[in-house]
Amino acid sequence: VESPTAQDVNPAQILRNVRPKLLIDGDFVDAASGKTFPVLDPRTEDVIAQVAEADAADVDRAVGAARRAFDSGPWRKMSGRQRGRVLSRLADLLEERAEEFARIETLDNGKPLALSRGFDIPFVVSHFRYFAGWADKISGKTLQTNSNTFAYTLHEAVGVAAAIIPWNLPLLMMALKAAPALACGCTVVLKVAEQTPMSALLFGELALEAGVPPGVFNILPGYGPTAGAALVAHPGVDKVSFTGSTEVGREIMRGAADGVKHVSLELGGKSAAIVCPGVDLESVVEEAHDALFMNQGQACAAGSRTFVHESLYDEFVERAVERAQRATVGDPFGDVQLGPLVDSAQLEKVLGYMREGAAQAGAGYLCLVAEYSYLIYRLNGSLIGVATQGAVVRCGGSRIGSKGYYVEPTVFSDVRDEMSIAKEEIFGPVQSIMKWSSVEEVLDRANASPYGLGAGVWTKDLDLANRISRGLRVGTVWVNCYNQFDDAAPFGGYKMSGFGRDMSEYALQNFTEVKAVVTPLQDPAW
Ligand code: ADP
Repeated sequence: VESPTAQDVNPAQILRNVRPKLLIDGDFVDAASGKTFPVLDPRTEDVIAQVAEADAADVDRAVGAARRAFDSGPWRKMSGRQRGRVLSRLADLLEERAEEFARIETLDNGKPLALSRGFDIPFVVSHFRYFAGWADKISGKTLQTNSNTFAYTLHEAVGVAAAIIPWNLPLLMMALKAAPALACGCTVVLKVAEQTPMSALLFGELALEAGVPPGVFNILPGYGPTAGAALVAHPGVDKVSFTGSTEVGREIMRGAADGVKHVSLELGGKSAAIVCPGVDLESVVEEAHDALFMNQGQACAAGSRTFVHESLYDEFVERAVERAQRATVGDPFGDVQLGPLVDSAQLEKVLGYMREGAAQAGAGYLCLVAEYSYLIYRLNGSLIGVATQGAVVRCGGSRIGSKGYYVEPTVFSDVRDEMSIAKEEIFGPVQSIMKWSSVEEVLDRANASPYGLGAGVWTKDLDLANRISRGLRVGTVWVNCYNQFDDAAPFGGYKMSGFGRDMSEYALQNFTEVKAVVTPLQDPAW
């Protein structure tokens, strides 16, 4: 299969306003080491920029600037109303340049332009507006005490907040951390993902233009084990907010332990999408498809375990396969539903799972060939044999072309819970469909995952919706929908999906300390 034809876009033109440097104390500067690293176009694998590479020395400079800005700068002392006005101006500036940002995001990450335009960038705009609105409403409580005292709480900014973010939603991840942190009066050092630093760098420029004082918002492009680890361990950092893999989340907790820093983690997932009897298959197949394939499956809340009730199973699988085969894959600047994956590491990882799933299907074939045989599976585009039990590759399973990180939308049916494609986070366009028969069973199986990020349930039965919503140990349950994100709805995980909540009023807790002030109530002496 040929690689999709690249659309006629000019990367240099798209990136013309981005300064590929570090943003420290209001200035765009080179790394102290002078080093840079290449950023690739996932459509073509070409280098589109050389970006300054931060390491420990730059972390020290950036944290120093953020520390000074917090301890003696104007930001924390401003009224919430004033900070809110700055953040709201920043949202306006971004909105005016939304198209430029959408194109940068698509170039850097590979996501379809329609998604950058319709989801990522507008969500960042609304998120800054939402937290601009909170900035002057962050209040404590007056307490009813047992003693004859007057006691109240203050919710104060936690200090210098380090934000470490992944590449799947580059600007939006920045917003989920920076908007509430800045609203609370914190100063921020952001370590962007090495794959996708471009949009945040341009945003840093808008922040200065909007009136965010120098040192309040610093940006460090660079790698995790160097810049990221140094940031987590730096004594000048008070809080670390991280989104990424569970594996790195553990490293972050360890790195933050010496300084007993506040930590919030939004980690991996293996979210269940549960289809109950009696639903309208056409719309549910579509929603379950989007639940997984949105952003090429590179979403922590992706509905990557599709549990379908036995009464609908065969028809659902047929339609899901048909839907995946219809999904258009190609240059994300064109009219497509899926673009390339972000980089070669991600491509290898996803292809590895596709092969493993197929191999496990093969094992099922060998062991159980004596049982009835009913489905055909496919590897690398060619028919291999007949499967009995074990997962069946119903469509996809291969890379598309040899240039650009494109893969086929892939559907496995007959997936068993113990298979790696059912247990591990693939972070790619691979839908695994499983069959269920009783509610207890599907709840047990959905909850058997060490993750607990999101879940979807489709049913017309209100009692069933309530029962399943309460029975799932996850941070978000979408009922008769999926991936419905809202500024006002908290997002985060149970279990190994992390702790702390991004978005919503709850995110303010990540960036505030609570102070109790107590004073005796006495009669005046005079
Ligand atoms: P993903 O699997 O989505 O790439 P990662 O968890 O690997 O997610 O990375 C998310 C972010 O964490 C990136 O910005 C990456 O550079 C950073 N990172 C990776 N390793 C470390 C580490 N040891 N310490 C701090 N940050 C890290």
